Amino acid sequence: MNETAMRVYAEIDLDAVRHNVRALRARAPRAQLMAVVKADAYGHGAVPCARAAQEAGATWLATATPDEALALRAAGIEGRMLCWLWTPGGPWREAVEADIDVSVSALWALREVREAARAAGRTARIQLKADTGLGRNGCQPADWAELVGEAVAAQAEGSVRVTGVWSHFACADEPGHPSIQLQLSAFRDMLAYAEKEGVDPEVRHIANSPATLTLPESHFDLVRPGLALYGVSPAPELGTPAQLGLRPAMRLKATLALVKTVPAGHGVSYGHHYVTGSETRLALVPAGYADGLPRAASGRGPVLIGGKVRHAAGRIAMDQFVVDLGEDLAREGDEAVLIGDAERGEPTAEDWAQAAHTIGYEIVTRIGGRVPRVYLGG
Ligand SMILES: *Cc1c(COP(=O)(O)O)cnc(C)c1O
Repeated sequence: MNETAMRVYAEIDLDAVRHNVRALRARAPRAQLMAVVKADAYGHGAVPCARAAQEAGATWLATATPDEALALRAAGIEGRMLCWLWTPGGPWREAVEADIDVSVSALWALREVREAARAAGRTARIQLKADTGLGRNGCQPADWAELVGEAVAAQAEGSVRVTGVWSHFACADEPGHPSIQLQLSAFRDMLAYAEKEGVDPEVRHIANSPATLTLPESHFDLVRPGLALYGVSPAPELGTPAQLGLRPAMRLKATLALVKTVPAGHGVSYGHHYVTGSETRLALVPAGYADGLPRAASGRGPVLIGGKVRHAAGRIAMDQFVVDLGEDLAREGDEAVLIGDAERGEPTAEDWAQAAHTIGYEIVTRIGGRVPRVYLGG
């Protein structure tokens, strides 16, 4: 199928990913870069984005789940890799045998990885995760001594090697938020304790995209950006992608399915939340919430058609929405750009986030499995 025949598709510009990796490395010149490619690289395609990131100098990859990391290995992706979202009975042994570093936040996880390492007859590489204030995953300061103690014992017996100590910010997207300095200080304390007890980590890391961009003192040995790799701004207050030196990697395009004239007073889409003010031309964009467009952006979601940014008229449905073109001309088969680069006059993931009262992260990550990806710069 050629691209003009496609209902909707996402062009992924791997040169933009490479550019963004280099731009982020320039922001953190003394640190390594771990490219976070969880959730199918935030909807951009984990395998091609992982390769592009490595080509541009990322020395580590990271995923949330072990299955995501194992899928990268199965696709032939080499190099260091970390995954952190474990549940009891998870594929520890497969991860150890696939040379994946695994995160440990609690004693149960340390015990399971120790068992798996013994069974595999190998040393597992583990990274101890500290909860320095996020209150999500990670080990609480009060439980740290016990976790570190057992990790050092496991290291002495040869079943594990602690390769990293790490944590994650709660509010790095709000520069100056008081929790940031508190978390950095807790991280330094927990790190110092682990090192005093005999942990000698290769990498110490806490910086996500916003911290990589705004907080050099958080860079330590390695920065761990996700969203910024794909050229989306972590928060409008931090600047547009262009202001941050980033290039959006995703361009979501659709092909107009129908253009027709309707009389004044005609209701449009479910619920008739939009009614035409005069005789007008409507264009049908064949993409909807089953493709990942947020229904919450009904009446507001932006789309570039015929050189003008217009907005969804009425409800965004499962597979389609409608745009009121007014007097403007367009034809079936014309291109509509839903997500792209503001520097080219296109609507952005940030615009859709604003229209749906959410964040750019959720917009790109939810672009669905029904939307083919077409890779540029491969
Ligand atoms: C998702 C995630 C990241 C990347 O965050 P961004 O804000 O996308 O850069 C880093 N670390 C952890 C633990 C994460 O869950």
